[in-house]
Amino acid sequence: MPDYQHHWKDGTPVHLPLGKIVCIGRNYAEHARELNNPVPDEPLLFIKPATSAVHITRPLDFPRNQGEVHFETELAVLIGRPLTRASASEAESAILGYGLALDLTLRELQSKLKDKGQPWERAKGFDGACPLSPFVSAEKFSGAPIHFTLDIDGNRQQTGDTGDMLNPIVPLIVHISSQFTLLPGDVVLTGTPKGVGPLISRQTLSLELEDLLFVETKVV
Ligand code: ZN
Repeated sequence: MPDYQHHWKDGTPVHLPLGKIVCIGRNYAEHARELNNPVPDEPLLFIKPATSAVHITRPLDFPRNQGEVHFETELAVLIGRPLTRASASEAESAILGYGLALDLTLRELQSKLKDKGQPWERAKGFDGACPLSPFVSAEKFSGAPIHFTLDIDGNRQQTGDTGDMLNPIVPLIVHISSQFTLLPGDVVLTGTPKGVGPLISRQTLSLELEDLLFVETKVV
């Protein structure tokens, strides 16, 4: 049974339930290109269920026999207020914290679903498909572009800079809230930069968000 609960970096719980995880595909042009996907003209949204969330420090586990599972390192935004058709200032003031997530993806299954024009949930919504780090209070961020990295077994694999996003964070939240209401405790995943690849047993993944958060996890 999933037993995920949001936490702050200092280990204290965030007293908000996780409802849904709203994700954007292809928010970095170079990542869209590495998968030979066109860059969409409006945000490509999908939702991972709350049951996909796990604490990132747990050994990463995922379905077997359905092809490769890819990691996608993403900046995660913790929503603190209800947002329905929000303005930019409402969206900005609803950001409670930032963390890091892995948008785990059964890539071969996703390709098959895409080819058939079917939804992606089976490829992206399985139990454990959304490892989430603790969150750092939004007050610690100045509003400048945010940087994050993923190292695998000590080698740099992904480098993210929110300045490279096709849909920056606040306009993205505004857009999401024009499509469906966001509630306190919901999380927005803001897309992955290039460098995605398959998880392999016993890899060690080290994720860093500015100099504010460092988490490490292992593949089962
Ligand atoms: Zn993603």
